[in-house]
Amino acid sequence: MSTILITGGSGFIGSHLIDRLIKDNHRIISLDNLITGRTSNLDHQKDNLNLKTINHDITEPIDIEEKIDYIFHMASPASPIDYLQIPKETLLTGSIGTKNMLDLAQKHSARLLLASTSEIYGDPLEHPQKETYFGNVNTIGPRSCYDEAKRFAEAITMAYHRTHKTNVVIARIFNTYGPRMRPNDGRVVPNFIIQSLKNEPVTINGDGTQTRSFCYIDDLVDGLTKLMFSEIQGEAVNLGNPEETTINDFAEKIKTLTNSASTTTYNDLPENDPIRRLPDITKAKQLLNWEPKTDIETGLSATIEHFKNVMNKTDK
Ligand code: UDP
Repeated sequence: MSTILITGGSGFIGSHLIDRLIKDNHRIISLDNLITGRTSNLDHQKDNLNLKTINHDITEPIDIEEKIDYIFHMASPASPIDYLQIPKETLLTGSIGTKNMLDLAQKHSARLLLASTSEIYGDPLEHPQKETYFGNVNTIGPRSCYDEAKRFAEAITMAYHRTHKTNVVIARIFNTYGPRMRPNDGRVVPNFIIQSLKNEPVTINGDGTQTRSFCYIDDLVDGLTKLMFSEIQGEAVNLGNPEETTINDFAEKIKTLTNSASTTTYNDLPENDPIRRLPDITKAKQLLNWEPKTDIETGLSATIEHFKNVMNKTDK
């Protein structure tokens, strides 16, 4: 049994990670300031003695009495509408927050996994994106608060590794979906599912030819744990689904799976919205023997069920 600290444990990915680590018999301490995380994501674990939750903003230093073995540093606003509303907080969480967690890791001789993002590749000029690609980010664009926060986070993580030999590894997470996404987080998956279930028009940004690749949460959690408990140090590894879809096709798929009568409306493409995104996961396959296993129909069906339940609850 290890003691594992998770920042952002009340978030979408963090809470699923906690479920998995508790199932694997670890003891968890979760730090979250609940700006975008929700206590309801961990309600089902609230009597579990192996989970301690602390309401804490990681931009403030923190000391933990118990010896920490591992840190999953997941905390950050991650949805475009969130980080566009709180750009300063997003930058500070990625920079000062990451520094504070690296200090904690160093103090406890803990291994730290940084949750980075495909956004560090920006609007990529290389396709698919390999870990060796340096990215194409507009430093003064609206998305820069997130992209540059994560780029800084990667840089400071590597600086601690090089300077202090802190045991670190970086996961570059591509679009992930599944139950517990917030209905109002503005991302394409909750938007399209809720619009389709309500038979309201599906809102496509741009002409819908832009692409993404969607990884189901259970597969991502599997990749994150494999990466954390591997020997890999001081490197970044892409974790995502290598199946590319246009947003148009994705909308059609969701409409079909929900038997929806929704029409489609087209809005302007937000500034700096990446045109193509697809992970090259050769490295994860070779080093971790990891690749996503859940097909999109299965993953979307589970996610649709989740949103049906959420909508039923709010209707009552
Ligand atoms: N998108 C869309 N309609 C929506 C929400 C998003 O067409 O209601 C588009 C968005 O502009 C982007 C893609 O879907 O091209 C994925 O957006 P999301 O916010 O889920 O994630 P991103 O990959 O942009 O961080």
